[in-house]
Amino acid sequence: MKIVTWNINGLRATKQSFKQLLEFTDADILCLQETKITKDLLTSDIALVDGYSSYFSFSQKRSGYSGVATFCKNLFSPVKAQAGLSSLHEVDAGNDIIGCYGNLENMFESKRLKELDLEGRAIITQHQLKGGKEQLLIINVYCPRADLDDVERYEYKVDFYKALEERAKSFLHKGNYVIIVGDFNVSHKAIDHCDPSDPVSFLDNKSRAWLDGFIFNDGDYSTVSNKLKKDRSVDVKSGCFVDTFRYFYPTKSDIYTCWCTSSRARETNYGTRIDYVFCDRYLANLLKSCEILTDFLGSDHCPVETLVDIDIVPSKHLPKLCTSFYTTFGGKQLKMSSYFNSTVKRSASDFDKSSKETPVPNKKVAKTSQMKLTGLFSKHKESVHAKAPPCNKSNTVNVKIKPSSSKSTVNTDASLFWKSLLKGPEPPPLCSSHNEPCVKRTVKKEGPNLGRQFYCCSRPEGHKSNPEARCQFFKWC
Ligand code: ZN
Repeated sequence: MKIVTWNINGLRATKQSFKQLLEFTDADILCLQETKITKDLLTSDIALVDGYSSYFSFSQKRSGYSGVATFCKNLFSPVKAQAGLSSLHEVDAGNDIIGCYGNLENMFESKRLKELDLEGRAIITQHQLKGGKEQLLIINVYCPRADLDDVERYEYKVDFYKALEERAKSFLHKGNYVIIVGDFNVSHKAIDHCDPSDPVSFLDNKSRAWLDGFIFNDGDYSTVSNKLKKDRSVDVKSGCFVDTFRYFYPTKSDIYTCWCTSSRARETNYGTRIDYVFCDRYLANLLKSCEILTDFLGSDHCPVETLVDIDIVPSKHLPKLCTSFYTTFGGKQLKMSSYFNSTVKRSASDFDKSSKETPVPNKKVAKTSQMKLTGLFSKHKESVHAKAPPCNKSNTVNVKIKPSSSKSTVNTDASLFWKSLLKGPEPPPLCSSHNEPCVKRTVKKEGPNLGRQFYCCSRPEGHKSNPEARCQFFKWC
């Protein structure tokens, strides 16, 4: 079974090639985070892909924010699907109560449990394993991001971790197998961070401390299998879950899953490893591989792919949470070919009508929907040596004025206006280390300097020791 997790940073951005994207990843189970979509905006070309069933959790707090989705190939369709971590999550579609909540309702007040599920951060699918009574639970999560100085939000983040852990462990207690995937918004060790700075303060972080206790972290991963076979208890000292990437690459460095887009940090590989596939200690014996797909573009994160040697019995009945039961899609799973009949976005009633008709695929439209995937999957070019953009030219307004035919006197205000345009803005200063034209940026952080503009080096952000990366030059405009 191939399971792929990817923080896609907005589903609608890739919607035209979504089916191709699914086929290209060739995932049996594809788990997406930060779908940034709400139910009313979900279109059939994303929700109903032929050959897959899909399960969404949406943010009920804000639109265009957070959200996770799990896509299962038909041969891997789940028995049950649940949005949210607790049983208190209120969704209008049928939400399966999978059970195994452990101590969750004693750990948190019900108000808090509802809050934790309000942002569409978890989808749990339950799959029947071949030849056994055991079930496999796949928990797809987008853990909250929070700044250390935002006390309230940070507490929310840590509570989410604790709720996730309690739920995952309670599944294990009942003899199930568990895989947890997603964006955890924390790098584990210094090796997983481009700039861990001071090793003491790096470890002094509640998220990191939680992760450290959550995953199996008992020395060399090569001995995991033997230790696991001996110890099947859940409440082991060293965590119950295996970081599948480190299982195969215990010491691999400079390998990340997330980079800052605005500072172009991917170009210098100045990133963090915050996206993971964790499996329980017993499944570790069945792991085949784990790869971080750094060549996969299209988001500020890249996907992580794990192969596990297990067989699933596909469910005969899809869980009620499946998008094919949405009333907006006529409550039926349609063939992909029927979408090619029309380029116009359909209403719910249109779907009811078209599902009764025999779809005749319009080849012309179908062809145009075959988007090239080269944009998503291409060798990332090292462009740190590329010259900085010619800021001085692009900043100069190039206006040609036709000589006026009228002999009227020139308006003083207007002439001053044109004069100011012709002169153009001041050329940007050159940065101190590279002697290259700077770029203008605006302070976005709340505070006394909010909105002020400044000049800085135009190169991508990178480690201090990297001479090709952005230098420290700074000047207020
Ligand atoms: Zn510079």
